[in-house]
Amino acid sequence: MSATQLQCRECGTGYELEARYVCDRCFGPLEVAYDHSRLAADVPGLRRRIQGGPQNIWRYADFLPLQGGQPGPSNRHASRAGLPAGCTPLIKADRLGERLGLRNVWVKNDAANPTHSFKDRVVAVASARARELGFDVLACASTGNLANAVAAQAAALGLESYVLIPSDLEEQKVLATGVYGTNVVAVEGNYDDVNRLCTELSGERDGWAFVNVNMRPYYAEGSKTLAYEIAEQLGWRTPDRIVGPIASGSLFTKVAKGFAEWLELGLAEGSAPTMNGAQATGCSPVAQAFEARQDFCRPVKPDTIAKSLAIGNPADGPYAIDLARRTGGGIDAVTDDEIRAGIRLLAETTGVFTETAGGVTTATLAKLAARGDIDPDEEVVVLITGEGLKTLDAVRDTFATHTIPASLQAFDDAFAAAR
Ligand SMILES: *Cc1c(COP(=O)(O)O)cnc(C)c1O
Ligand SMILES: [Zn+2]
Repeated sequence: MSATQLQCRECGTGYELEARYVCDRCFGPLEVAYDHSRLAADVPGLRRRIQGGPQNIWRYADFLPLQGGQPGPSNRHASRAGLPAGCTPLIKADRLGERLGLRNVWVKNDAANPTHSFKDRVVAVASARARELGFDVLACASTGNLANAVAAQAAALGLESYVLIPSDLEEQKVLATGVYGTNVVAVEGNYDDVNRLCTELSGERDGWAFVNVNMRPYYAEGSKTLAYEIAEQLGWRTPDRIVGPIASGSLFTKVAKGFAEWLELGLAEGSAPTMNGAQATGCSPVAQAFEARQDFCRPVKPDTIAKSLAIGNPADGPYAIDLARRTGGGIDAVTDDEIRAGIRLLAETTGVFTETAGGVTTATLAKLAARGDIDPDEEVVVLITGEGLKTLDAVRDTFATHTIPASLQAFDDAFAAAR
């Protein structure tokens, strides 16, 4: 594999590619480091290999921390059995763009994954690596979508699983998790309490892969596939700008890492996209720190309908702030009412029904456009990371239903004006 080691983001200390997520020396987070020089030798060949690869994230296996590179027909990788993720649509959203005064808006619809969120990508990579390392139980601390993805992936692989969630989660997300036959553990507290418990548990339970705790460096790499797909779908080039959601900040920072890797190799043309992060006002530690020109986030107690983004103490917050600054972007927050309006705007102009997190990114795109921060000709990709059917309450009472008797007269009365 082209992954070489785990490396501390703060002090650079290297570690074996094992189940480890924090630096012994300085407690900094660990990240997978690569040597892509072997790939750089034949970029046209690499493009052909990707195009001829499977219709899922394993077409990008050369850029993921797994053994054996990309699987071919004669080269099946047992660790990559299970639910494949990725290859979701990139949609040119002209009607949305028109409403916002922009000419080049694209929607990356990652609700079109097996459990209807981008989390299937990160879970596929974390669970593949977990199996390579010999783990036989999958677990996670989840704000909802991760629970869905872990439970489904464990079912597909025939592994036992435990998903820990805050007890106040949307009912749709709990139901769509329990159905896979996992152990659903509703913890009395918020996500940050759940995460603390999982961190303690991961030190106690041998053989358990907590996808976003002890497997976090591998989990995080899965988000890069969003960037690879966007670049490939645009014809091997980068967009000018990304508007993406921030919970822990992992997705946001790794999407940028994915573009950077391909630009450096010459696999994608263009330059590093401007990165705009999006949070809900009711849980916006990263947006607040950005606004206050600070480098670190002050933890908050979440109170927002965007529960999938409700992380009050975001692990990758400082890196998200740095990234937004370095690329000339920003990090904004939108209110719950703006989130509802964002969901409706996206649905009415593109036919894509997103959960609250997509309401956050769509509303942020609208805010940036209204503020004049985006040039009308810029190519902007807004990340839609989850499915509207999981957060139905967010659109309740945002439209009227016409209830009529079953008669032509009644219909004509109700819609007389619409002839
Ligand atoms: C988890 C999640 C995110 C982003 O999470 P990060 O912790 O920032 O990587 C975005 N959207 C949805 C719908 C999610 O479930
Ligand atoms: Zn360190």
